[in-house]
Amino acid sequence: MHQVINPANEEVIATVPSLDGEGTDAAIARAHAALPAWTAVAPGDRANLLRRFSDVVRDHVEELAQLEVINSGHTIGNARWEANNVANVLAYYAGAPERLFGRQIPVPGGIDITFKEPVGVVGIIVPWNFPMPIAGWGFAPALAAGCTVVLKPAELTPLTAIKLGELALEAGIPEGVFTVVPGKGSVVGQRFVDNPLVRKIVFTGSTAVGEQIMAGAAPHMKRVTLELGGKSANVIFADADLEKAAASAPSSVFDNAGQDCCARSRILVQRSAFDTFMEHFEKAVKNFAVGDPNLESTEMGPLISRAHWESVSAFIPDPSIIAFQGTCPTGPGFWFPPTVIAPVESTSPLFHEEIFGPVVAVTVFEDEADAIRLANDSEYGLSGSIWTRDLGKAIRVARGIESGNLSVNSHSSVRYWTPFGGYKKSGIGRELGPDALDAFTETKNVFISTED
Ligand code: NAP
Ligand code: MG
Repeated sequence: MHQVINPANEEVIATVPSLDGEGTDAAIARAHAALPAWTAVAPGDRANLLRRFSDVVRDHVEELAQLEVINSGHTIGNARWEANNVANVLAYYAGAPERLFGRQIPVPGGIDITFKEPVGVVGIIVPWNFPMPIAGWGFAPALAAGCTVVLKPAELTPLTAIKLGELALEAGIPEGVFTVVPGKGSVVGQRFVDNPLVRKIVFTGSTAVGEQIMAGAAPHMKRVTLELGGKSANVIFADADLEKAAASAPSSVFDNAGQDCCARSRILVQRSAFDTFMEHFEKAVKNFAVGDPNLESTEMGPLISRAHWESVSAFIPDPSIIAFQGTCPTGPGFWFPPTVIAPVESTSPLFHEEIFGPVVAVTVFEDEADAIRLANDSEYGLSGSIWTRDLGKAIRVARGIESGNLSVNSHSSVRYWTPFGGYKKSGIGRELGPDALDAFTETKNVFISTED
């Protein structure tokens, strides 16, 4: 059993079972047994079941959002967006079963056609930072492809996943097709990797565990999609709308208390704009509303756990390096104020390590080439933003930065219509967008002779 704690006040809110290896194997065996019938569901019927699942989630958005507020400390505004995102992603991939096209390829002597067939049982391992969306980005396209799913939520944040498992059954998704398996990563997650009946792992979390999962998957030739860490750059050129860039910079890194793999945790500012940018940025940071996540006006809640609070705090052993900070509540809860460190040299761990908290490093650059060089001076390559009024420069820099998801004069990174994933140590594969089903299907090629 695991005690679930509200990070905003440290109260125990639920006790959730932790499955052992045997229990996990049993859930995987049920998913495997459910596979033939699920794969055989006619495309239109599978589409309708996913639409119904989407509708049932939509009917429970408020309940799911409230659960996320108390379990994860997410602001109520974010939590509603996250629950709606699950419904939207299910609705989007409900269109896929009827469009899972193969190809007809011209060949001599006959007809050649390809089929996209489900890869089999998919194991999805979810971190605690965005429990609902990250789960949905995995299970919605997997189910649409005709795969069955076992899903392990993070031990710290299992409540919305467990509820989504119940809602799937309520929507008529057959028993065994989508099973939530709460428990420890080292037990449940490890069984997903080791049990040969699981044919594909979708993992989101730290690069260290991602490396272990890829190594563990190798002897089975198990397919993997890995969404790992980030240290994304927010690149601000002197010709940008500096007020807008400064006003939006806090939420681009402090949203979800910085516990976001896409957090723009490095701000790179062109030297001639540094003073002006910092002046506007300081005002924005000091006005960033940190507090009770239940309030509509709150922009940032607490960190997820005491252990994580310790880990974030360890990055700032000496408060004299802080340029300025926002405010946060005192008393119970894992509160950490929005914190700006400037100027940070590119040799500093603050420039390279994923802090995963509300801490941003500001670094100065000279020109376009220097901006690209600094942005790429990272083992990660997940996301990033570019602020300039010069469209040609924006495109050149976007093409120059080794990163999977860039946005110009905005901070958007995850839209379910478009592919999402990382370069370098930020991961392998892409989720979401029109091609997501490729990650859950094998291509089968069949040649039919037309010879007499
Ligand atoms: P983590 O250890 O990578 O955990 C992510 C998920 O993997 C959790 O469900 C975890 O289970 C599970 N897991 C852990 N060890 C496993 C194993 N050996 N085999 C299979 N599954 C395993 O991440 P964390 O400890 O929560 O956070 C540590 C750091 O990772 C953060 O500070 C941050 O830098 C980074 N992180 C990145 C993201 C991202 O979105 N890219 C998300 C979360 C964390 P448990 O429930 O038992 O932990
Ligand atoms: Mg861990």
